[in-house]
Amino acid sequence: MAARPILWIVIPCYNEEAVLPITAPMFLQKICDLRDAGKISDSSRVLFVNDGSRDKTWEIITDLAKQDAHYIGICQSRNRGHQNAVLAGLMEAKDRCDITISIDCDGQDDINAMDAMVDEYLGGCEVVYGVRSKRDTDTWFKRTTAEGFYKVMNALGAEVVFNHADYRLISARVLQHFADFEEVNIFLRGMIPLVGFKATSVYYERAERIAGESHYPLRKMLALAFNGITSLSVKPINLISGVGAFFSLVGLALAVWAVIEAILGNTVAGWTSILCVVCLLGGIQLISLGVIGQYIGKTYMETKRRPRYIISERTWEDNKRHWIEEE
Ligand code: UDP
Ligand code: MG
Repeated sequence: MAARPILWIVIPCYNEEAVLPITAPMFLQKICDLRDAGKISDSSRVLFVNDGSRDKTWEIITDLAKQDAHYIGICQSRNRGHQNAVLAGLMEAKDRCDITISIDCDGQDDINAMDAMVDEYLGGCEVVYGVRSKRDTDTWFKRTTAEGFYKVMNALGAEVVFNHADYRLISARVLQHFADFEEVNIFLRGMIPLVGFKATSVYYERAERIAGESHYPLRKMLALAFNGITSLSVKPINLISGVGAFFSLVGLALAVWAVIEAILGNTVAGWTSILCVVCLLGGIQLISLGVIGQYIGKTYMETKRRPRYIISERTWEDNKRHWIEEE
């Protein structure tokens, strides 16, 4: 029998002291179950990525690492956001394991879907998307905006798996190629499909957060959605040209009408209509400039080539100050 694959579960954690002690043993149990079922190697790990938490999250992670060798952790030098935290974990894992599964640490995503994910991998798939079969536990608002977002994304030409967030299995082989995608504006769920390889989906039901609070208020959700659209699609820019052309034609028609009205001697009635047209065009121009500005801003950030994550500590090596001891 071929060697069993090493699985690393990659878990971003930001201010999660309330939920981590509850969910960490669940992840460990899953590793043990999969190992006992003969599907993965005992060298598999649960990797926590502390995303610059301000509470006791990192202390909890280092304690866990002392308790059981399956728990390991890395610490980011500051908070950089969910996507960058997952990326840091995946890049850390890619040379040390065969498969990764990224999942949030709040227990919302059903960890039992991992069995099916690993089965799909053993069956030859390199990427397995975890897809929510229903969204009963989300509020009406979150459900509507989220599902609308996936539809808009796809209409704009970005390949995003419907109702799939960041719960997915990726093989180390795919990650090696993904490492060549060097962009700074990252939107993982839209980028992974671009790497290619054989992919499939498994379905699970999403539960409520076990403890703690969501870190995705409306503001961050909108930012993520906008980032996703502008990172993956240039259609909004084309759309602007279309809208511009349309309103230029309307403007032309209005101008002809205004001239005719003037010739007929009815010009006093013009104030309201002019004001409307000015406002409408002004608004459209500002929106258009804003969208173009977003793309220019992105280009600006990309040209800086700043690092996407910086790891300040690891639970498995202490590389601090060893030069002092050598003296
Ligand atoms: N997270 C992170 N950095 C951040 C915000 C969130 O690493 O700046 C992590 C968080 O700890 C959790 C996951 O990303 O594991 C998803 O966040 P959350 O559950 O708050 O979002 P929601 O599920 O409500 O969309
Ligand atoms: Mg959550």
